[in-house]
Amino acid sequence: MFDWPGGSWQDTVRLVLTVLSIYGAIIWVALIFWVFRDIRQRTRDPVMQIISVLLVLAGFLPGHWIYLILRPRQTLTELYERSLEEEAILQDLDDQKACPVCRARVRDDYLICPSCLAELKEPCEACDKPLDFGWLACPYCGYQKTPASAPAPAPNHIGDEQGGGSLGGLVRRSSSLVRRRGS
Ligand SMILES: [Zn+2]
Ligand SMILES: [Zn+2]
Repeated sequence: MFDWPGGSWQDTVRLVLTVLSIYGAIIWVALIFWVFRDIRQRTRDPVMQIISVLLVLAGFLPGHWIYLILRPRQTLTELYERSLEEEAILQDLDDQKACPVCRARVRDDYLICPSCLAELKEPCEACDKPLDFGWLACPYCGYQKTPASAPAPAPNHIGDEQGGGSLGGLVRRSSSLVRRRGS
C-alpha cells in the first residue's frame, strides 16, 4: 500500500461522499424551487403544481427530466400575449368590412358601396357623419334621428270616449300592455 495523505483512505472516501451528497442535496433543493417557480408560470392548477413539485422531490434528476417533457409548453404570459395577438388580428379583419351585397371591401365611413351602389350608411342630418341605419342618434353630434316609421299617435280623449270598446279602446289597451311589458 502507498502512503495515503491525510489519514486512512476510508476517511477520504467518506469525506468525498459527504461533499458529493451535500452537493446533490443543494442541487435537489434548487431543482425543487426551480420547478415550483416554473410550473407557477405555466399553470394556475394547484393539483398540477403539487404533482410537478412532488415529481422532482421524489425523482430528483430523472423526475426533473420527466417534468421537462410533460410540462405545459407555453407560459401563461406567452399564452396571454398570443391571445392578444389573435385578438388584434381579428380586430384588423373586423375593421376591413365587406359589402353585405357584393362582398367587395368597403371602408367604415362609406355611405354606399362603390362596386354595387348598395346603401351602407346614411349621413347624419346635422353633421353629415356616416351613421348605421340601426342607430337612433348620431354618436358624433348627438342629433336624434327621426325614425322612419313614426309610432302611432296616442288616441285623444274625445276619440277614446266616443270609440268605447272599438278601435280607440283597443289601441289604449295594447299600448298599456306594452307599457306593462316594458316595465
Ligand atoms: Zn357592394
Ligand atoms: Zn351628427
